[in-house]
Amino acid sequence: MVDDIPEALRDRPLDRPTATPSPTPTAAGSPLLVLVATMASIALGGLGWYLWQSPGQVAQTAPSTPENSTASENTNESSESNNPDLLGHLPYEEAAPEDLKSIVSDNTIKLRAAAADAYLEMEGAARADGVWLMPLSGFRSVEDQEYLFFEIKAQRGQVPAQRAEVSAPPGHSEHHTGYAIDIGDADVPATHLSENFENTAAFKWLQENAAYYSFELSFPQDNPQNIAYEPWHWRFVGDRQSLETFYKARELFEDGENEELN
Ligand SMILES: [Zn+2]
Repeated sequence: MVDDIPEALRDRPLDRPTATPSPTPTAAGSPLLVLVATMASIALGGLGWYLWQSPGQVAQTAPSTPENSTASENTNESSESNNPDLLGHLPYEEAAPEDLKSIVSDNTIKLRAAAADAYLEMEGAARADGVWLMPLSGFRSVEDQEYLFFEIKAQRGQVPAQRAEVSAPPGHSEHHTGYAIDIGDADVPATHLSENFENTAAFKWLQENAAYYSFELSFPQDNPQNIAYEPWHWRFVGDRQSLETFYKARELFEDGENEELN
């Protein structure tokens, strides 16, 4: 880094105050200083007069302040109730640990029991068709998501809006619900969590069959939430609770969108 700074600028006079010759007072200097001081005090006097006048102007504008603050409170209220999304992502509650069930032998990936059973059945059916589905990520706590969102955003030099296109802010990931799963093709690891996953046998199989196991793609191309296309991210919508989790959240989101259009 030091090499980026031109040689001449590396040692600023500030670093070595003694090297800079200090101006020595001369006989001629004194009257000049008096003149400067006089002009400064006139200028300050003018400023003082101006400041003395100003309170009147402030008082004139003051009555409108309460109206403004009321207006902004109302705006906040309506944006909270009608538009609960954060950078396009909807708020979700974290699944309770006792509702989760592992879908891999080392217990590192879990889904809610109903989703876990459906996924394992689907994985078996795919295997029978010669397709090897591989779970990459299931339930994630809000804490896990904090790391994913903020650490990776910082590592990649992304601002929140950029990061939100590819990752949900904490509290807003479908993975919190225990119903969402990222699926890869074990035969083509290079396509894991990549848009190229759509060219794999696993994705084609999922497109044709996932609905039979009550899984659907959360973020298809051109989705209304404006989240980047994620062919690997699927969610279970096969029971009342999962359906309500996703479709109520979406209705709230769409209400918010309509509100903005009005
Ligand atoms: Zn995902």
